[in-house]
Amino acid sequence: MENHMTTTTFDIDFKNLLNMAKEKLNPRKVSHFIEAGGVASAILTDQGNVYVGVCIDTACTLGMCAERNAIANMITHGESKIDKLVCVMSDGSVGSPCGVCREYLMQLHKDSGEIKILTSIDGFTFIKLKDLIPDWWGHKYFESGET
Ligand SMILES: [Zn+2]
Repeated sequence: MENHMTTTTFDIDFKNLLNMAKEKLNPRKVSHFIEAGGVASAILTDQGNVYVGVCIDTACTLGMCAERNAIANMITHGESKIDKLVCVMSDGSVGSPCGVCREYLMQLHKDSGEIKILTSIDGFTFIKLKDLIPDWWGHKYFESGET
């Protein structure tokens, strides 16, 4: 069974994305060294597919944030352009991508700055990634025509 969900309608709203992420919240101990599922993320691509991921926390800093786990799932399925992203914490509140995830997202696609990131459940407000990582160092490489 594949872990991503193909949708029939392209414009999935933030509320649905949030619910898809919440379905994957499942804080648990995987082993003596690894805990997972305390944070979940769902991303909607420009192709209308949703990919989800949970955080994986390990000893020796080998872990991965929920957002990057969802991105890995997306890349595994051949996509790289994200339209919307949500991150949900174990208490059900909305999370914001950490600095590493912001950088990772920016490197994914030349249009990543336009990714809409949910900032609040009240009114389902969002911010664009470019406003979370201003003056990004890599623009010049995308502008030179590289993909
Ligand atoms: Zn992160």
